[in-house]
Amino acid sequence: MTELFTERGRELVERMAALGPAIAERSHRYDREATFPFENFDDFRDAGFLGLCIPEEHGGLGADFATYALVSEELGRHCGSTALTFNMHTATMLLTSQIADDLEMSDHDRAVHATRRAEMYRGVVEDGHIHAQPFSEGHLPGATAGVSTRAVQVDGGFRVTGRKIFASLAGAADRHNVTCMVEGEDQIRFLGVPADADGITIEGDWDPVGMRGTVSRNLLFDDVFVPAEHEYLPPGCFDQAAERWPYFFMTLSFSFLGIQRAVLDFTSTYLRGDNGPSERRDNHQKQHGWGEMRLTHERSQALTYRVLAEAGVDPAPEQVQRAWAAVVTAMEAAPDMASTAVRICGGRSLLRPQVLERLYRDARCGATMLPWSVEVCLERLGRADLFDDADLPA
Ligand SMILES: Cc1cc2nc3c(=O)[nH]c(=O)nc-3n(C[C@H](O)[C@H](O)[C@H](O)COP(=O)(O)OP(=O)(O)OC[C@H]3O[C@@H](n4cnc5c(N)ncnc54)[C@H](O)[C@@H]3O)c2cc1C
Repeated sequence: MTELFTERGRELVERMAALGPAIAERSHRYDREATFPFENFDDFRDAGFLGLCIPEEHGGLGADFATYALVSEELGRHCGSTALTFNMHTATMLLTSQIADDLEMSDHDRAVHATRRAEMYRGVVEDGHIHAQPFSEGHLPGATAGVSTRAVQVDGGFRVTGRKIFASLAGAADRHNVTCMVEGEDQIRFLGVPADADGITIEGDWDPVGMRGTVSRNLLFDDVFVPAEHEYLPPGCFDQAAERWPYFFMTLSFSFLGIQRAVLDFTSTYLRGDNGPSERRDNHQKQHGWGEMRLTHERSQALTYRVLAEAGVDPAPEQVQRAWAAVVTAMEAAPDMASTAVRICGGRSLLRPQVLERLYRDARCGATMLPWSVEVCLERLGRADLFDDADLPA
């Protein structure tokens, strides 16, 4: 079991909390305009947060998976879109550091990986690079069920062709870290496509109901050259990570724990009369609704924290099931709480620039996040322990 609240972890959460008011202030504009939170990422760059999960020996802040979760939760409290996009960036840092360190690799692959990630980290820490993770293609739902994006090996690297949907940070990232396959292989390659390479098109409108600041448009790759040094995991390691470090797929849920917290923040202030028409806290119905919201949040946070304390390589099946349960709970608790808050706060709480209506919309997006969407997790939970592994469909 990992100790969840280390002194260092608390300090990093406090540092993120200090950035919170400025982030919250801007969140309304990003939401209205559906634009990327560049100023927030500038703040992260200045505060060293782009390197949150980069090891200290490479100039990062050295946060591990659990500490990342706590920092992400705090960020989600101030702006869901920023938390979600920050997750895409930071997930690559975790994948190439703590997670990669736990995977089996040959000595040669380990040495190559060490060189490549050092250069990638240098780009983030010194040049302020932002990384994205466009994995979704809209064809196959599973984490490693196969991808259609193709990489052809050429002199000095790869040529990548394919299409990714919902590519958060599409016009903002310096690297699009894609999953792709080489013809004839049965393993996923993890390649960092330089955003300024020839053959990349960002297409489609972006006018969604929530998480509007993520600007998750479609990305088209047409024979795009990717240098060999941008293979950020040795071949086979992405599949190994999905199998042996599945907690990687729950990182998005921490943003939604933060949104739950934001709903609580809003509701308590509103019922006390500080940001609403007048005090409402004497009404028993309101107190009951408020109590329900607290319970929902406490359950969700407690379950996530339990999972965080045991997160690591090669979890037991029961632990993976608990992780699915934590994701479903976080992703469903956030919209439930926002919905209850609307009920008990009333119509005027929905008027902009009150944040509740945005929280309500952002919260609803959580369930859709593949590969561990709520439906996928529920389906897996529904089958677990009812069948032997051999009887389970893939
Ligand atoms: C704001 C936002 C930002 C995003 N950012 C990114 C990003 O940066 N990178 C990225 O890779 N993706 C991103 N996504 C995409 C996301 O992870 C999903 O891929 C996307 O929401 C899938 O939409 P779809 O209509 O293709 O769903 P479909 O795949 O058509 O699924 C439809 C429904 O069926 C469920 N479902 C699908 N497969 C199964 C299954 N096997 N078992 C049970 N239920 C299933 C789904 O959960 C969903 O409810 C983002 C999505 C949103 C909304």
